[in-house]
Amino acid sequence: TLLTANSPTAELQALDAAHHMHPFTHGQELGAKGARVITRAEGCWLTDSDGNRILDAMAGLWCVNVGYGRKELAEVAARQMQELPFYNTFFQTTHVPALNLAAKLAELAPGDLNHVFFAGSGSEANDTNLRMVRTYWAEKGQPQRDVIISRWNAYHGSSVGSGSLGGMKGIHMQGGLPIPGVHHIDQPNWWSEGGYSTPEAFGLERARALEAAILEIGPDRVAAFIAEPVQGAGGVIVPPETYWPEVQKIVDKYGILLIADEVICGFGRTGEWFGSQTMGIRPDIMTVAKGLSSGYIPIGGSIVSDEVASVIGNTEFNHGYTYSGHPVACAVALENLRIIEEEGLVEKVRDDTGVYLRERFESLTDHPMVGEAKIVGMMGSIALTPQKETRAPFKAEAGTVGFKVRERCFANNLIMRHVGDRMIISPPLVISREEIDTLIERAWQSLDEGY
Ligand code: PLP
Repeated sequence: TLLTANSPTAELQALDAAHHMHPFTHGQELGAKGARVITRAEGCWLTDSDGNRILDAMAGLWCVNVGYGRKELAEVAARQMQELPFYNTFFQTTHVPALNLAAKLAELAPGDLNHVFFAGSGSEANDTNLRMVRTYWAEKGQPQRDVIISRWNAYHGSSVGSGSLGGMKGIHMQGGLPIPGVHHIDQPNWWSEGGYSTPEAFGLERARALEAAILEIGPDRVAAFIAEPVQGAGGVIVPPETYWPEVQKIVDKYGILLIADEVICGFGRTGEWFGSQTMGIRPDIMTVAKGLSSGYIPIGGSIVSDEVASVIGNTEFNHGYTYSGHPVACAVALENLRIIEEEGLVEKVRDDTGVYLRERFESLTDHPMVGEAKIVGMMGSIALTPQKETRAPFKAEAGTVGFKVRERCFANNLIMRHVGDRMIISPPLVISREEIDTLIERAWQSLDEGY
């Protein structure tokens, strides 16, 4: 007999430990204490198998922008499963959910990003991008343009291709990555790396590292630059204001394609539909996933400019996933976008509860352990330090204090994540003022409990 959400926690944990391999988890560490079993969720709140209610300040995994428990999304999925549960869009067929979603994304996306290549996840979409930009240059008669520049501390996915684009060394070097033809430059993390300079000067310096890399590799060899408008999994690194305008100038100067990885930043997270709009950049390709369906169903994609689509259209692009444009996923994503629009969630982040969250989140810098609090829209991070003035790191091994604070938050029924000794948040965009107060109180209390 199968266990249920009402089975005893110990039984659930034992079966989990016996058979389930968890992503990004140390197996033995988890085996010793058992995974917390999440059984249901509503709004911004999770419930575990012991009946605790946990405030989810990470929206799952930067996913659940419209919050949990949306009946409309379940109903649309059930309807679509009955009407057309699956068909592919490979060999000169299409279907209504895919064409409607592609058109909707073209309407929402900035500039002439009018074409969508669907995938099942962000990783898959970035794999698409890798092949697409190289195919683009080959079709333009410049097949030697095959190098893609990315950044250290970036996260672009876990497949072999997208993992190679990533730059979180502890993660992305495991298992023999990266593939050839990817070059990494430094990130614009002013607080941790730029103390010798002003944020403005440091932003320019780190942008110009792109130009230096282009010149080193050879301008006629570089296909694209890929970056998250605001680096997410790497610790919510908000770039200085000077950074992106300078990067845009450099990619324009050398005619290099710009790929904005909007997997986290997209769909209202930064207070605009896309992080590219918040940062004032004009990408040629945007990667989307997560908030596209609010995580209710797996879907991702690449939103591509008229120019890139027209060049790729000159050949057969021998690429696609069985679940590219899955009808149920497309239908759910469309309904999710309808909810975001109808409830004005983007405006809420920009002008209303997002502003309140910023004020409250920034007040965490009054805590003796918090060196910096940075937030854009509803994605933010605090840097932990034993000594704010010098920004000194802890004596303990890097990341262990962050891990402990995360454990304290967990015990206090608040989900915050840690990346090294930074703590990050990315709550559902529907979070209320009262819930924001609870978030800040629990974070403060967890910091107070020390390390
Ligand atoms: N790109 C970014 C910026 C991400 O944050 C992630 C996942 O966290 C991905 C790509 C990979 O997406 P997925 O896990 O859906 O493959």
